[in-house]
Amino acid sequence: MSLWARFRGGVHPDAHKTTAQCATKPLPRPERVVLPLRQHVGAPCQPLVKKGDEVALGQPVGDTDAPVAAPVHASVSGKVAAVEPRLSPSGRMEQAVVIEAAPEDTPWVGLPAGLGWDLDPELLDPAFIRDRVRQAGLVGMGGAGFPAAVKLSPKPGSEPDVVILNGAECEPSITSDHRLMLEQPERVVLGLRLFMRATGARRGIIGIEANKPDAAARLSQLVAGDPSIAVEVLPVRYPQGAEKMLVWALLRRAVPVGAIPLDMGVVVQNVATAAAAATALAEGRPLTDRIVTVSGRVQSPGNWRVPLGTSFVDLVRSAGGLTGSLARVIAGGPMMGMAQADLDVPVTKTTGSVILLGPEDLDETPAGPCIRCGRCVSACPMGLLPAQLCAAALNSDWAAAERFHVRACMECGSCSYVCPARRPIVQSIRLAKFELGRRARQGRG
Ligand code: SF4
Ligand code: SF4
Repeated sequence: MSLWARFRGGVHPDAHKTTAQCATKPLPRPERVVLPLRQHVGAPCQPLVKKGDEVALGQPVGDTDAPVAAPVHASVSGKVAAVEPRLSPSGRMEQAVVIEAAPEDTPWVGLPAGLGWDLDPELLDPAFIRDRVRQAGLVGMGGAGFPAAVKLSPKPGSEPDVVILNGAECEPSITSDHRLMLEQPERVVLGLRLFMRATGARRGIIGIEANKPDAAARLSQLVAGDPSIAVEVLPVRYPQGAEKMLVWALLRRAVPVGAIPLDMGVVVQNVATAAAAATALAEGRPLTDRIVTVSGRVQSPGNWRVPLGTSFVDLVRSAGGLTGSLARVIAGGPMMGMAQADLDVPVTKTTGSVILLGPEDLDETPAGPCIRCGRCVSACPMGLLPAQLCAAALNSDWAAAERFHVRACMECGSCSYVCPARRPIVQSIRLAKFELGRRARQGRG
């Protein structure tokens, strides 16, 4: 266990990791996929195909010259049925490429050659690795969606000394990273070595919460004898997997408000991103599928390897259908995930989990007045005053929200989780951030 291992605040929600022992199964090939042209933080891609075009598996269907972006690839072979706005799990309408699947997949002829699974990262040029990572469309697959190649490209003078792989998976219900670390640990470790080579970092750490001892053991076995890589087991405490919490717990480096881990010499990537990077370099395959945990009110909860763009409707069908009436669908975890307005939204690069909730799962107790108990303050890992932020936002006092550092909030939901009055803290914080962003764009400060 890590010597440091603790961060301030945090909570202990019920883990509900009921799918942890469910081995990953391939999802039946969908008849149609919907590929949003923005599945990442940054600029949307421009379509590279039009209605009627035939596309092959792995062919780029969207890309852009914008510096912060990642290309999007066809996850099935087939015919482009439309390029049009579609609802994405982000809640936004995004331009998307819709592909009707052909009976069989044919790999795109333009895929780069794979280097084989015995490749040695130390023999590769760092720029070559970064280029392949970008070409493969890799983003932070833990939910953040930041383009991976951008994180691997530090400015001269700010080179990192450590790469941390985030295998904490601290959100309740999600087990997709756990299954990946158990089933494909070699890819995770190779991905870490590629990231270390790409950034020049001499140290690698894989951080895993203590509720995944089997995954920690597999990875520890693989890195035994390599003094540059350590597997650190962390206490189970939400939000242990938040970047700033990980950097603090593992290295005792505080990432200040407004800074990123790279400013402190650390690159943090998700374990799934690392495995996808290994696949991209070893096999030449871009990111066209991912593991998704399907849990909640379905007949057979479990983990599936899912072509990107597959509708949540197909996921529910593969999980045996619903066990009752559906009250809420969440993409991601119950703490930080996004409630969906529709079940017909596609799996994207950042969809690690889909949770189906029935009416019996929802607590609709109305919010009461703040009783000034201070629990939200104790729970906040960022040291903020959530009750004040909530009050400022509900009073439209945007200056006060700014004074209380609303932008430092990472929307982890710990404050809302512990609030006995069920105050809408995170929702109001999101509103304040949205309003401040809007005013900044309008030049109103
Ligand atoms: S104020 Fe933000 S960072 Fe603090 S507990 Fe609430 S959601 Fe998390
Ligand atoms: S936890 Fe809720 S009731 Fe307690 S101080 Fe915070 S907002 Fe008020």
